[in-house]
Amino acid sequence: MEEKCRKCGKTLFKKVLLDEQGHTAIDESTPISLESDDKESFFKCPHCLAKNIVVSSTSQYGVPQLRISHVKE
Ligand SMILES: [Zn+2]
Repeated sequence: MEEKCRKCGKTLFKKVLLDEQGHTAIDESTPISLESDDKESFFKCPHCLAKNIVVSSTSQYGVPQLRISHVKE
């Protein structure tokens, strides 16, 4: 599974499936880290440098999951 950049559509990072409910985590082999400034957290796309803004959400099973909400340049 791959998380794609919302701007250029290239791969931001790989994801691994944690369980049968569809929860995922970032594959540790992917060289990307969650960055943040004073307002928000984001993944910077290694291809186009767009900021993929991340929001924390909780699944229906109560597991915290990161979700990309939108992109900023
Ligand atoms: Zn990109």
